[in-house]
Amino acid sequence: MNVPLLDLKAQYATIKDEINSAAIEVLESQYFILGPKVKAFEEAVAKYSQCQLGIGVSSGTDAILIAMMAEGIGEGDEVITTPYTFFATAGCVHRVGAKPVFVDIDPLTYNIDPALIEAKITPKTKAIMPVHLFGQMPEMDAIVDIANRHGLIIIEDAAQAIGAEYHGKRAGSIGQYGCFSFFPSKNLGGAGDGGMVVTNDPERAEKLSVMRAHGSKPKYFHRVVGGNFRLDALQAAILHVKLGHLDDWTKGRQQNADKYRKLFNDAGMVIDPNEKNLEGKRGVILPTIIDNCRHIYNQFVIRSDRRDELIEFLKEKNIGSAVYYPLSLHMQGCFAYMGHSEGDFPHSELAAKQTVALPIYPELTDDMIAYVVNSIAEFHAG
Ligand SMILES: *Cc1c(COP(=O)(O)O)cnc(C)c1O
Repeated sequence: MNVPLLDLKAQYATIKDEINSAAIEVLESQYFILGPKVKAFEEAVAKYSQCQLGIGVSSGTDAILIAMMAEGIGEGDEVITTPYTFFATAGCVHRVGAKPVFVDIDPLTYNIDPALIEAKITPKTKAIMPVHLFGQMPEMDAIVDIANRHGLIIIEDAAQAIGAEYHGKRAGSIGQYGCFSFFPSKNLGGAGDGGMVVTNDPERAEKLSVMRAHGSKPKYFHRVVGGNFRLDALQAAILHVKLGHLDDWTKGRQQNADKYRKLFNDAGMVIDPNEKNLEGKRGVILPTIIDNCRHIYNQFVIRSDRRDELIEFLKEKNIGSAVYYPLSLHMQGCFAYMGHSEGDFPHSELAAKQTVALPIYPELTDDMIAYVVNSIAEFHAG
């Protein structure tokens, strides 16, 4: 059996006619940049995310970048974030001239640990940027409380978390800015790059939309320097069709997660997530879900102390897997100037060594899930 990590062709097959006609409609219109398709999609994503306004942009990276630019974050400023995330989170802080200040993760959820944030706040801190990693939000009440007490804004990196909820609140709706990515492998993925910033603040939305088009307002008059961060109409049209299916797909991912949990439990392979020493343990740690949350499972990430061997074994079984992420951001060469060393963020470093993502996409069959679990059981038996 062959179980890829993700199978976008399987998804396309289920919605081919809808997608094709949406794309053809844009081609017939020859209206490619912004316009009514983008506007309609912005409204739909804002509504879906319990936000008032959405500004479609060219990628999730640009969503984060433009939020920083609109907020005027730059030289001399600090932004608190996690070192265990996709590079763009901290890369964008660096690109506007500010300094990413890392805070270690909670080893159960892989999200920033709110209890460690306050110690990192200085007079230079402007924002906290939590990342809703793998599709689950961190303890946002604690983060909002800290931000309010210190007069900081929150920029949610919700690239992996469209539709995720924390105590009934959707990803993107809690901070001053919520940043989404429509990279093809995200839960709502386009036919190329795309992203969006959502906000409940009309003034911030206005700044974002001016920034998106070179800071131009009125056209050809620039009081600020922006960039070309526009979302294509073709992407918006395709994504809008896919948004209509997102809740079904999320349900599929959640059901697959439940199936994994049941089968791993039946096989006696589940290790308590609080277990500190995995050495010699026969099994894996499964994702932890915090109370009152909707996890949308952009990734289903397990832990094993023999992670690299496990990946090799799965490869031989034609099972796709991936490591998100193999090197914590504080250890990246481009951030060497920060002077971090190994041991600074131990939970993040350990996660980088032990975690692996398994296939979780909605089109997985029961046989495929059973094959993955059986293969992992076989690995641990050997
Ligand atoms: C995917 C992702 C991004 C960047 O999105 P792109 O659309 O690829 O630019 C940023 N942050 C996180 C956590 C992501 O997963």
